[in-house]
Amino acid sequence: MEFPGDEMYREAKDLLVSLLRIDTSNPPGNEVEAARFLEDVLRREGISCQVFEPAPGRGSIVARWPGDGRGQPLLLMGHLDVVPARAEDWRYPPFGGTVAEGAIWGRGSLDCKDMVAGWVTILVWMKRLGLEPARDVILAATADEEAGGTWGMAWLAREHPELLRAEAALNEGGGAPFTLGERHAFTCQAAEKGVCWLRLTARGQAGHGSVPLADNAVVKLARAVARLGEVDLPLHLTPTAEAMLAAFVEAGGPAVGRAIKQALAAGGRREDLERVLPPEKAAALAATLRNTVSPTVLAAGSKTNVIPSVATAEVDGRMLPGFEPQTFLAEVRDALGEAAGDVQVEVIMTDQPSASPFPAPIVECLRASLARHAPGSTLVPFMSTGMTDGRFVRRLGVPVYGFWPYLPHVPVHLAHGTDERLPEDSFRFALQVMWDAVTSFCLPG
Ligand SMILES: [Zn+2]
Repeated sequence: MEFPGDEMYREAKDLLVSLLRIDTSNPPGNEVEAARFLEDVLRREGISCQVFEPAPGRGSIVARWPGDGRGQPLLLMGHLDVVPARAEDWRYPPFGGTVAEGAIWGRGSLDCKDMVAGWVTILVWMKRLGLEPARDVILAATADEEAGGTWGMAWLAREHPELLRAEAALNEGGGAPFTLGERHAFTCQAAEKGVCWLRLTARGQAGHGSVPLADNAVVKLARAVARLGEVDLPLHLTPTAEAMLAAFVEAGGPAVGRAIKQALAAGGRREDLERVLPPEKAAALAATLRNTVSPTVLAAGSKTNVIPSVATAEVDGRMLPGFEPQTFLAEVRDALGEAAGDVQVEVIMTDQPSASPFPAPIVECLRASLARHAPGSTLVPFMSTGMTDGRFVRRLGVPVYGFWPYLPHVPVHLAHGTDERLPEDSFRFALQVMWDAVTSFCLPG
C-alpha cells in the first residue's frame, strides 16, 4: 500500500511532539496522562479503545480496529514511560518536544515514543483510508516498561490476556542497523535472554587481621569471583543464533562465512568474533552465544583489622532460551571448578528467557519492505541480552519481533542518555517502512 506521504508524516511528528511533552518519567511514571491523550486521538477517529489504570497514575491503553477475521490479529506494542532526565544537562528541554537542527528532541524520542506515535498514526491512517484488513490490528501502549513492567504489560498480560492474543506482535528492541561488509544490516529482535541472579557466600574463620588465616572468607570469595570473571561459559547455538549467523554469511559472502566458522570453532568468544565484527558487536554477539555471569556486588568486613567470617558477592547471570535456573547453575558450578567448594551459590532472582520463531510471515513483510525502502540492506535476527515487555507477550504464545528501523546516522546510543533525539529523516523512513510492512501483513492479497 502506497505511503500516504507528507500529511501522514506531519501527523506522526505532531503526535510524537505531544507525547514527548507529557512527562512520563518512571518513577513515578504518570503514564495515564499519555494514555488519556491517545484515547482522545483514537476516539476522534472512531477507533475503540480502553484505558487501564491498575494503580494511580499508571495508565495503559489498548485499542483494536477489527478486520474481517480471515487472519489472526497483529499486535503493535510499545511503552509510554521513559527513564528520567536531568534537564540542566540537555541542549533542549527533555520534555519540550523541540524540533530543531533536523531532529525531534526529547526523552523518549528514541525509546520509544517515536514507535508508539508511529503505531497510532499507522492505525489511524489505515482506518481513515478505509482499508479493509483481513485481521484485527491491536495497539497496546503500556506503562512501566523501564522498571520491569509490573504496572504495565505484566499486569495486562495477566489480567487481560484475551486482548493481546495475536498471530504476531511488533515491539521495540530492534531496527538499528550496523555495517556488515558493504551492506547495512537491520537488526530484528527475535529472542531475549533470561535472568538468573546469584549470591555467592563464602564462610571462614574470623580473627584478628594481624594473624593471617588459611580459612579466610574474603580470600575464598575472591577466588570464586575471579574465576567467574575469567571464564567463558560453553558455547550454545540457539535457533536465533543460527538464523543470525546464516544472515551474516548471506550478507557478507563466503569470506565472512569462513571467518565466522573459524571464530566459532575457536570458541566464539569476544576476541574470536572481533576478527569478523566491530568490537561492540562482537561483545554483544559473544554474549548471545552462551550463558553469562558478571560479578557486580561485593560485601565483606567492616574493619581493616578484623577478618570477617562471611563474604558475599552478587552475580548478574543471564540465561539463553532453553535454559532454566537448574541447568544454568550446573554450568556455573562447572566454571567455578575447585572454587565451587569454597562458596555456597543461591539464586536470588530469575526471569525466564523467551524466543520467537524466525523467519515468520511478519518477518517476511519486514524484509520485503526494507528491500523496497533501503535497497541492498539485509535483515538480521538477534537475541537481546536484556529484557523488554516482549517477554510477557511471548509467554502468552504470541511471537514478538523487536523492529522499528533507524537510519544509520541516528545516535541510537542516546536512548537513555542526554540529548536523546530522533533525526526527522529517520522518523519518516521508519514510518514508510512500517506502513508498508503492516499494511502488507494485514491487507488480503
Ligand atoms: Zn524502551
